[in-house]
Amino acid sequence: MDGSGTEARLYTWLVISHLCIGAGTLCSFWIAEHRRHDPSAQVRFGVTWHMTMFVVGLLLMAPLALRVHASTFGFAVAVTIGNLLYHLPRPTRVVFNSLAALIAVYAVRAGDTGVAAVTMLRFTEVAVALVLSVLAGNLVRRQRIRSIIVEQRLSSLALVDGLTGVASRRRVEEVAEGELAISAPDRPLSIILLDLDDFKRVNDTHGHNAGDEVLRGVARLLQQRSRLNDTVGRWGGEEFPMVLPDTPATGALELAEALRGRIARQLFEGIGACTASFGVAESRPGDALVELIARADTALYDAKRAGRNRVREATPPEFTGTHTAPSDTL
Ligand code: GH3
Ligand code: MG
Ligand code: MG
Repeated sequence: MDGSGTEARLYTWLVISHLCIGAGTLCSFWIAEHRRHDPSAQVRFGVTWHMTMFVVGLLLMAPLALRVHASTFGFAVAVTIGNLLYHLPRPTRVVFNSLAALIAVYAVRAGDTGVAAVTMLRFTEVAVALVLSVLAGNLVRRQRIRSIIVEQRLSSLALVDGLTGVASRRRVEEVAEGELAISAPDRPLSIILLDLDDFKRVNDTHGHNAGDEVLRGVARLLQQRSRLNDTVGRWGGEEFPMVLPDTPATGALELAEALRGRIARQLFEGIGACTASFGVAESRPGDALVELIARADTALYDAKRAGRNRVREATPPEFTGTHTAPSDTL
């Protein structure tokens, strides 16, 4: 060191910078601990504090680097670089920590107690901060993982129907909106809406749990028959929509008819047979999703009025044609 004044200032700067960096680490730790119910804010605060203290630490280090004697300049740079490295992933910090220890040992053997003391101070700070940051890091990491799990659970709750495992209404609407946007006159989108017949009676006669079993069974049947790009959903209650991309009404009617027959033939345990009515609508250029669904809904209503257990096709003004259910032998 170049005189005791420089050395004293050096210690002061180092102590202040270490205190700042330590305080930053402690703050991230404290925030991680006390904002555990708000993981995203916690992570944000933790990172912000850490980065702020990093910058403060660097600023405090700058005068130090300028003031020290040429023989210790390399070391000052090492300290500054160490500050940078300290904020890198843990293995890098471990390397830096080991280097600091080596410098300290070397300095003691060379009789340079000033450098040895400074290096040891840095070493101690890094060691303490390392332990604290590992603790804080683990907490933050745990919270981050937890928040990812919560997010996934929430999004799957929103996208999947809890009872049947098919797509939720929201998911069906999202998919249908997307498919409608890329549909074309030669590649139309079709919607099938089906509603179980006299389902109230199933519940009243066999109980709500038995009704739930039927809903699950029907959802399974629909999924078994759907293609990879098709989306089966539950609209709530006992109404199921199916989104069929690249499918003209003829194909959708065929599928609806097959499904109608399949459901009618199924014997649900302890309940027996159950039937469903179907409405089918094909997209027209310029269709909004609500219009397409409304047409399918009207067709479904027609099927109910016509006696249930049948398929009806939507009949927009420019598009006519009905489809009557043949036998259940499909
Ligand atoms: P329709 O042939 O005209 O469709 O008659 P429906 O009895 O099926 O129709 P309605 O809309 O009158 O009754 C639907 C019933 O579906 C009423 C309700 O008890 C039942 N339901 C709705 N959601 C659920 C559910 O999640 N589980 C069970 N088990 N039943 C449900
Ligand atoms: Mg019904
Ligand atoms: Mg209904």
